[in-house]
Amino acid sequence: MLFLCPIKLYKMISKVIAEDLVHKVKYAINEADSIAMVIHVGPDGDAMGASLGMLHYLKSCGKSPFIVAPSAFPAFYEWMPGADSVYVFERDAEKATELLSNADLIIALDFNTPKRMAEVEPVVLAAEGKKIMIDHHLNPGDFADIVISHPEISSTSELVFRLICRMGDFSKINLACAECIYTGMMSDTGGFTYNSNDQEIYVIISELIKLGVDKDEIYRKVFNTYSDHRLRLMGYCLYEKMKVYPEYKSALITLTAEEMERFNYVNGDSEGFVNIPLSIQGIDFSVFMREETDKIKISLRSQGTFPTNKFADDVFGGGGHLNASGGEFYGSMEEAVKIFEDTLPAYRDFF
Ligand code: 5GP
Ligand code: MN
Repeated sequence: MLFLCPIKLYKMISKVIAEDLVHKVKYAINEADSIAMVIHVGPDGDAMGASLGMLHYLKSCGKSPFIVAPSAFPAFYEWMPGADSVYVFERDAEKATELLSNADLIIALDFNTPKRMAEVEPVVLAAEGKKIMIDHHLNPGDFADIVISHPEISSTSELVFRLICRMGDFSKINLACAECIYTGMMSDTGGFTYNSNDQEIYVIISELIKLGVDKDEIYRKVFNTYSDHRLRLMGYCLYEKMKVYPEYKSALITLTAEEMERFNYVNGDSEGFVNIPLSIQGIDFSVFMREETDKIKISLRSQGTFPTNKFADDVFGGGGHLNASGGEFYGSMEEAVKIFEDTLPAYRDFF
């Protein structure tokens, strides 16, 4: 097997992360005895991939790191190497709090503001350990001592790969680490169907495949492991719940708690539903609203120039990337839908 020697790899991949930050991170890792990682509430494939990729790398460095997730991750990420060691805060707050409070170093991955840590936020903010943020969302907060923020990079997992290489540790990326990084890169680009035109992504993937990653198998494990309930729920949402607004190139799907119960909903069952209406010709903006106990969780997606992050920020106190954002609404589903529909005309010129 022919591996690119690090020198060649460096030439093929731009130095995205500033040199001084690379040195600071390397130093902080070397100095730390106990290293914690924390990801955002409702972990997605990128949060899982970036933190687990980092976990395997740190283990290769002889460290004993751990990961805290504010809430449970979807079952289709359970196969990821190391996923069974993730502490889920809402299940075991006491243990997670103790671990975070005693960590010398806390690495925050795949989110830009402390709010995204939900219940874990006060614990991390009060913790005395040094803090590093590695993320690709716009508008990075300043809660960390070292901030690596690159919104132009399509996944935090890719940033983790770049960081490890820049620290001179490509050789410490083992198969487990490579599989996690690949999973994160794949899931934040919808299987390389959006935010994925950067040619360097494919240089990195090529390296990950050389390390033994079976990309086709990972695709199946993440995207083809749903229950029949999820498919029936999807059919219901598309047939009965999807509203199309052709004049605004937009579509909306809503899902109430009662409907979720009817379809035996489990965490992650509606993941990806928001993308489906974008496959309708002429639809460039799609919104999915799901009722939670105290609020409506909103996902927004677009293709082209429509700024979902501006819409999320203006209307639902949220944010995200140009083509993928989220927000929350504290009120009824009817009110959320009305606000959405009332706002659409003002966004006509963004298409
Ligand atoms: P999703 O729709 O998959 O939950 O989220 C898509 C993206 O929107 C996330 O990667 C994140 O950047 C952003 N996002 C989701 N929910 C929120 C939220 O409540 N607030 C903010 N600021 N961003 C969010
Ligand atoms: Mn991400």
